[in-house]
Amino acid sequence: MSSDCIFCKIAAGEEHACRIFEDDISIAFLDMRPVFYGHTLLIPKRHFTTIMEFPDDMIYGFFSNLKLLSRAVEDAMGSQGIFNAINNRISQSVPHLHIHILPRSKGDGMRHFLWPRKQYENMDEAMKTAENISRTIERLKNAPTD
Ligand code: AMP
Repeated sequence: MSSDCIFCKIAAGEEHACRIFEDDISIAFLDMRPVFYGHTLLIPKRHFTTIMEFPDDMIYGFFSNLKLLSRAVEDAMGSQGIFNAINNRISQSVPHLHIHILPRSKGDGMRHFLWPRKQYENMDEAMKTAENISRTIERLKNAPTD
């Protein structure tokens, strides 16, 4: 637990939140400033800042919970779909890993979440970018974080 982390305090029951779900590794609660009603945050109870440092052996359980919560929010809120999002460092206002679960429906007015977009100058630029990331994956596979 990080003593000055608001989400650690929520996980420990020291700060109020409208809790939705809890198991051994995670809890979910309503975002206090929702984009849409039902906007939910799923967090690990243990303090990790970003997905990049999240342990491999917790991923199955955590993402199973994400699936359950996404189905539940969609069903309960009567939405047509769900948007899942994680801000890592940039645009991350709370430095404790959290996944946004947002109910979405056509015409709901949500814009600019994944904008602005640009185009690769040409296919060569796109291929170079893909190759760079692929090479980095190979390097990182040999240097696991946990
Ligand atoms: P992000 O900007 O991606 O880090 O998202 C952090 C989210 O946490 C924001 O949508 C906030 O509205 C939400 N938030 C911050 N503090 C609380 C809190 N005490 N209870 C519920 N939601 C919170």
